[in-house]
Amino acid sequence: MGKSGKDIIDLDVKELINLLNKALADEWLAYYQYWVSAKIIKGPMRPAAVAELTEHANDELKHADMLAERIIQLGGEPITDPGDFGKVANCSYLNPTDSNIKSILKQGIDGERCAIGVYHHLLEVTKDKDVVTYHMVLSILEDEIEHEADFEALLEDLK
Ligand code: MG
Ligand code: FE
Ligand code: FE
Repeated sequence: MGKSGKDIIDLDVKELINLLNKALADEWLAYYQYWVSAKIIKGPMRPAAVAELTEHANDELKHADMLAERIIQLGGEPITDPGDFGKVANCSYLNPTDSNIKSILKQGIDGERCAIGVYHHLLEVTKDKDVVTYHMVLSILEDEIEHEADFEALLEDLK
């Protein structure tokens, strides 16, 4: 990144890169969780749930892309070994061993709640310190809030 781009950041950049890499691991795990859940899910309202899971998986992949681009811009390196995802992630991978729609949706809600906490924390860290990362994190947080609401609405419709 250029000199002025760095000068406007009032944070320990290494520590920030570390936090962004942890979020990157979360996004890849969430992406896979939703992608594979969409394949195996069973039960009533399956098509609606598959559509929502697929949409969210694509959003998580987009978030991973945004995080990786910002990490590189800051002079860091995005995690290169997928084997490290589970070690550095903030949110644990919720293995969909029960393919019933209710169980899949509950895991999705838990995942989104964890993501909301992670990005809310990142907003606090970057507020008035790194306006570009702050803006990116805010945009991701808005998506995670929508994801949580979408999964909750689907679960409610099943009752
Ligand atoms: Mg949605
Ligand atoms: Fe995400
Ligand atoms: Fe999400």
